[in-house]
Amino acid sequence: MKYDYLIVGCGLYGAVFARQAADKGKKVLIVEKRNHIAGNVYTEKVEGINVQKYGPHIFHTNNKQVWNYVNKFVEFNRFTNLPVANYKGEIYSLPFSMFTFNKMWGCTTPQEAEKIISEQRKEVQGVPKNLEEQAISLVGRDIFEKLIKGYTEKQWGRDCKELPTFIIKRLPVRFVYDNNYYNALYQGIAVGGYTKLVKNMLDGIEVRLNEDYLKKKQYYNSVADKIIYTGAIDAYFEYKLGTLQYRTVRFESEILDIPNFQGDAIVNYTDKETPWTRIIEHKWFEFGKDENGNELPKTVISKEFSKEWNIEDEPYYPVNDEKNNSLYLKYKELADKEQNVYFGGRLGEYKYYDMDAVIESALNFCKKEL
Ligand code: UDP
Repeated sequence: MKYDYLIVGCGLYGAVFARQAADKGKKVLIVEKRNHIAGNVYTEKVEGINVQKYGPHIFHTNNKQVWNYVNKFVEFNRFTNLPVANYKGEIYSLPFSMFTFNKMWGCTTPQEAEKIISEQRKEVQGVPKNLEEQAISLVGRDIFEKLIKGYTEKQWGRDCKELPTFIIKRLPVRFVYDNNYYNALYQGIAVGGYTKLVKNMLDGIEVRLNEDYLKKKQYYNSVADKIIYTGAIDAYFEYKLGTLQYRTVRFESEILDIPNFQGDAIVNYTDKETPWTRIIEHKWFEFGKDENGNELPKTVISKEFSKEWNIEDEPYYPVNDEKNNSLYLKYKELADKEQNVYFGGRLGEYKYYDMDAVIESALNFCKKEL
């Protein structure tokens, strides 16, 4: 065998595994079906701005080891995610904090806000059974109607009553004037873009782009002892038990000849009529400046549209409802029986992983495997 490991997919999971394996003296090869490295964290320079082609990724973590790990490869800036919601022209601060409650109800103290929410949450009896009940029990019906329902139903294409509760628990609810979108200890954007992070991780590692492993399985299985597969688990098994559902997103990007379009990196459109879920203005992830600290005269914006995944689309978000999770478990049984093939990452494990969690999971796997 020529290689110890063949890694399928050049996203974060694959890149971390490749780096760690190479550092242990293993011979590794990465094959990637797209024409670029870095998976969905891929960035591309347009008008001096690092554009996140597959949507916004803000690195955040509580895990010091993971933070130190990524900082070995690239510097991170001090970006803090402070998105806002635009509901029919009204601007609300996200996540749900005293700024949001003040705008929604005019209240100025935590006691007033808590009183309103505790009144509104009374409509939910017992343990919340779905995203709608969970949202109302966290922040009440007014916020649910204006800031959650429209956005969530556009993003997921499903009624909030049909979605799992964990999705809305991703967002903090705070009775303080703190509008940092995350609770994480560490947060930032890779200076120069995430492509640079992955490129630096892959130093000295052989990568073949435009190579679809699933179409050349026989050949690629013959070149390595073991395979790390980070593509969609159902695709690996040729969808033989049925297709798992994913959401995919599509972007309409424009270069505008103005320096500032919306004054924020991310603005969510939370009504149900606006067809896009959010608008990304990429320059604000790096404070509107190029790498030399010069103000950029133009701006690049991307409108994000969400839809159900079809076979020709890139899968983005696993739909982790009961039906799909139970199908995934059946695929996982098959995966566990495969000899010398290991499944990892958002698609390989059908899991709504954040970047730091993917890296953590890859590093944990490396500890066992290498
Ligand atoms: N969400 C919402 N309104 C918003 C932003 C988020 O209702 O303005 C809900 C929505 O259901 C979303 C979930 O919160 O799927 C988690 O949001 P997050 O920003 O974590 O999603 P991601 O960054 O993964 O797209």
